Amino acid sequence: MDSDQTLRRDVALANRIIERFGLATAFGHASARIPGTNTFYISTRRSPGLADENDLLVIDTDGKILSGRGTPNSEFWIHARIYAARPEVNGVVHAHPLACISLTQIGEPHRVVHNQGGVFVGGVPEYGRIGLIRSRELGDGVAHSLGKGVAVMMRGHGITTAFADVRAATVAACFLEESAALNIRMLSAAGGNGSRIREFTREEAELARDQTGPGVAAAGRALEYYAAAAEVKPLGG
Ligand SMILES: [Zn+2]
Repeated sequence: MDSDQTLRRDVALANRIIERFGLATAFGHASARIPGTNTFYISTRRSPGLADENDLLVIDTDGKILSGRGTPNSEFWIHARIYAARPEVNGVVHAHPLACISLTQIGEPHRVVHNQGGVFVGGVPEYGRIGLIRSRELGDGVAHSLGKGVAVMMRGHGITTAFADVRAATVAACFLEESAALNIRMLSAAGGNGSRIREFTREEAELARDQTGPGVAAAGRALEYYAAAAEVKPLGG
């Protein structure tokens, strides 16, 4: 399999994973930069669970559609402007996972509370404006909020992750939702008192990141699991 075909497969699989694992239903999308270019592969405007490696669009960082059939997702600007701002980012995932949205809407920050949360040791900034990201300017706003980070929470909307490849961005998105769900559960158990949560120290979080983060060996194992489960899980399951 050549590298372009592998990349297309990775993009389609990433889309299916975020749907099968509950990070998105009808809405959400994953993309990958075509190496060494200002263009990226992204799924067409349908549920990510229906993504097809042979039915991807190529869009550039100015939002120009260069090839492919069909309509782009209206929020493709998130991907376009992050790739423009971050040359080292080659994979972006945007989804609407419920625990992350819940965390934004109770005004609580994301806390590192378990090993898979370690990758977010630098904090997860918030993009506070609600509404869809349907323009270059709004895409620039999300990229600005993301900064040099790996993820951004979008208030009342969802999340975006940005990594060196789409596989890591996908695993990170799954880890962030898992972590946010734990944050919510712990806040509930603590009567809403965040100070009772035994948040990881910076050193603990860095250790967890180095041992389990999307960029290390465990991520390959994580992706293998997510991919295998996505292949057998029914749509919506
Ligand atoms: Zn969205």
